[in-house]
Amino acid sequence: MYKVGIIGAGVGGSYLSHLLSKEGVDNIVFDFRAPHEKLCGGGVSYKTIARFPILNELSCLKKTIWKTNFISPKDRMIKVELEKPITIFNRRDLDYSLLKKSMESSAHFRKEKVHAFILEGGHWRISTENGDYKTEILVGADGALSRTRRKLRAQSMKGDYCFALECFLDVQEDSVTYKFFPDFGGYLWAFPRVDSLAIGIASKHRKRKNYKVMKERLLRFIERYYPGMSKTISVRGAYIPFFSAKDIQDMPICSRNWALIGDAASFVEPISGEGIYYAIYSAEILAQCILEKELALYQQLCMKHFGKNLVKASQVFKYFYQAEFMEIMIQMAEVSLLARRIISGMISGSLDYLSWKSRFRKEFFKILGDFIFNADITIKKEIVTNLFKLSPKYYGLFFRNKIS
Ligand SMILES: Cc1cc2nc3c(=O)[nH]c(=O)nc-3n(C[C@H](O)[C@H](O)[C@H](O)COP(=O)(O)OP(=O)(O)OC[C@H]3O[C@@H](n4cnc5c(N)ncnc54)[C@H](O)[C@@H]3O)c2cc1C
Repeated sequence: MYKVGIIGAGVGGSYLSHLLSKEGVDNIVFDFRAPHEKLCGGGVSYKTIARFPILNELSCLKKTIWKTNFISPKDRMIKVELEKPITIFNRRDLDYSLLKKSMESSAHFRKEKVHAFILEGGHWRISTENGDYKTEILVGADGALSRTRRKLRAQSMKGDYCFALECFLDVQEDSVTYKFFPDFGGYLWAFPRVDSLAIGIASKHRKRKNYKVMKERLLRFIERYYPGMSKTISVRGAYIPFFSAKDIQDMPICSRNWALIGDAASFVEPISGEGIYYAIYSAEILAQCILEKELALYQQLCMKHFGKNLVKASQVFKYFYQAEFMEIMIQMAEVSLLARRIISGMISGSLDYLSWKSRFRKEFFKILGDFIFNADITIKKEIVTNLFKLSPKYYGLFFRNKIS
């Protein structure tokens, strides 16, 4: 009998296994795909590296990026130099390096698919194609479409997904690009990896019609910036859980002998789609709860450590992606170094959705000064027109601090 059975050796499951093995907790990890290249930008924010320095110490391929391009819904492009870099990993390397570390300690890994699990006399019987395994605790780390979550009847996730398309180009780049669209609820990214360029697009609107629109936009972007290459690529699709403030308050993600981490618990920041940080962070909190025999505290601790930021991000999501707002942000960044610093802070994670407003308020008059002195009359007119187009409700949400 193992103490902990982990379904999924993605970044969350592998890191959890590593932490438990280090402390001598007997655990077994199942993943029928690992090692594999999960569909993902592979972008890891500076806050993640700063909090989990182990990621930088892994001997795997990664690229450090200091430059970003932002393209507005009206195709206005600005360049922002980052104060703290983004690190971009190949997911196969990242996840597998962590898994290897756990196996070097004492973890057991089975390249098998979990078909079923059942609670029998106080322990779990986990069944794969090769047989049955007994564990005291069961952890669902099986990603966005987690069957563990559905079987445990935990968090309801009806309709709460973003859909993403991604492909890889044989191109070397040294800057990350973000492209925004009008009325889209998402964005397009180009993340340079060591050996390729990952270009993807994600949106909350999952209607069939939207899939076509997403693919067209992706191909159009590739044709425009990498002419001729759209014909040679293979585009794949995947779901990203959309974190719901209501779900996390109402639905359990743990009990005394099971828990969900990472995407299986829908811990993805809804505006940026950043999930690696939360998969690792939730794994860390869960490992601590298991070691201290306080599994029931796991959900509460996740809310305390990072949940409020996710709640806030899910509340401002639809306002954030309003075309006029994106246009104003990019226009302001064009004329104001301070606005560019705020954007850089949001990308690195030093400013989260709870703290960026107070930074903005602190710098407001300086940014206003930049607007008055640096913007030409056309930009001034456009910014003011866009400001008038934003609904009053919008201002309320962005400038109120309280989370309802
Ligand atoms: C297109 C796209 C781009 C993204 N870009 C970024 C980005 O740039 N930065 C970022 O921070 N986040 C990004 N994300 C989100 C990020 O990929 C996820 O949040 C993160 O991978 C979650 O890690 P996880 O360990 O919870 O799950 P996963 O990494 O999905 O791992 C789950 C594992 O479980 C295994 N599994 C599933 N079912 C079973 C079973 N029955 N038995 C055994 N094993 C099973 C799977 O094979 C898989 O390896 C992106 C997501 C997508 C879809």
